[in-house]
Order: sequence, then structure tokens, then C-alpha cells
Amino acid sequence: MENNELQRLVERISIDLFGKPFKHKAIFNSRLKTTGGRYLLGSHHIEINRKYLEQLGKDELIGIIKHELCHYHLHLEGRGYQHRDADFKALLKKVEAPRYCNQLPEQKRKRRASKILLYKCESCNLAYKRKRKMDTSRFVCGKCRGKLVMVKEYFV
Ligand SMILES: [Zn+2]
Ligand SMILES: [Zn+2]
Repeated sequence: MENNELQRLVERISIDLFGKPFKHKAIFNSRLKTTGGRYLLGSHHIEINRKYLEQLGKDELIGIIKHELCHYHLHLEGRGYQHRDADFKALLKKVEAPRYCNQLPEQKRKRRASKILLYKCESCNLAYKRKRKMDTSRFVCGKCRGKLVMVKEYFV
């Protein structure tokens, strides 16, 4: 989808659902990272994250456009256009726009690696995996009460 198609789509949704024209620009912005779209208070433009369209499909895109158009129309009309405002919440509901954007599948996969510490019992070799450092002067092997030593730390 190109910018001019996006523009036409936003204009059409604006008329069909809000009964009001969208008179500014809608463009794809590939630098948006964690949001599906944003409404710019200064220029009144709407920017859309193209990745959301590519990864989640057109329904998701339409949801984002509806959401951003809620900001747009309320802001231009001098009404409560922010997420916490009653006007905004009511309009979202009316046009069945999502309150928040779905996360991209790409982001869900990219969770932070967590560190695992591997301890072993010196006597019986039993392994213990811990997320945090253990005080080996206080904790001993649960099986044989032997001394625990840290073997290595790794990331999963
Ligand atoms: Zn929003
Ligand atoms: Zn042991």
C-alpha cells in the first residue's frame, strides 16, 4: 500500500464512520517503533506504522486509523482528545476503535534475555538454576547438605 492509498482510506473511514472529512495528511512512517500510529498535534497529520499493516493485516490498520481519527476530530473540535478523556473514550466506543494497539508479533518475540545462574552441589553434583545470586554461605544442597558453588551464568 502506498501513501496515496492510505490517504484515501483515511478519508473514506473519516466520512463513513465519523461523518466528517479528513483534511490533512496521512502517511506511513517507518520509524515508528512501538505504536501503530500517531496523531501529530502540530500539523494534524496522521502517521501510520507500515509494519502493522504488513504483519497484522488490513483490519488492524483500519483499527489504528479509527483510533487516530478519534484523536484528530476531537482535537480539531477542541474536545477531550487524550486517552484519559471521557470524550475520547466515548468516541472510541462509538466507532469501535481499539483502545490500544496490538503488539506486533515481531515485538512479542523480542523479549529480553534473562540471566540464569547455574549452581552445583560439590558433593552430589545436583544442579540448581537460579535467577538471582545465591548466598552460598547460607544455602546448602537440599539433598545432601553439601556446599554449593556457582558453575556458570548464561542467558536464555
Ligand atoms: Zn492514541
Ligand atoms: Zn548435594
